[in-house]
Amino acid sequence: MSAADAVIQAVRAAPGIFQAAALKITPDDFHEETREWCLRNICGCYGRCWSCPPAVGSVEQWRQKCISYEHAALFSARFTGMYDEAGAAEARRGFLKVCRAVRTAAAALTSRSLVLSAGGCVRCGKCAYPQPCRFPGDLFVSLEAAGLVVGSLAARAGMSRTSDAFYGAVLYDSKP
Ligand code: SF4
Repeated sequence: MSAADAVIQAVRAAPGIFQAAALKITPDDFHEETREWCLRNICGCYGRCWSCPPAVGSVEQWRQKCISYEHAALFSARFTGMYDEAGAAEARRGFLKVCRAVRTAAAALTSRSLVLSAGGCVRCGKCAYPQPCRFPGDLFVSLEAAGLVVGSLAARAGMSRTSDAFYGAVLYDSKP
């Protein structure tokens, strides 16, 4: 098994994972249009959270950062009870735990890795923005904030796209 496949296997075995698959991320995967969605601020996170625009920097910065990694994998986790605000909040906290587990799994097998998550950071009840982040080590920027479009990534990775799932990605370099 290649080192890259070993990471994907470890991600699949991480607690809470529904699916995980290898993904080739290219410069063309990054879209400025995602910022238009953020500007509509339906989630209420724009300008209010360190994990979201404008605090995260430009799409072009994320393009350069993400394509600097050798490999990537998309992962998902499914949650029940997302039919009301409390259920959705609980699911998002659950996905934070999944992202932490993926980060731990990747860190053990790679020389460098980065986990991207879904939506704004939910680590604190209310984000400290614009005061300094309270837990920068627990801050995961979302796929969308980086300029990536989940639907097209999931289709390319051969993963199902369901409304009861959150999606994240891990980018990594194999250990030399
Ligand atoms: S860890 Fe807390 S302060 Fe930092 S981005 Fe997340 S919610 Fe905001």
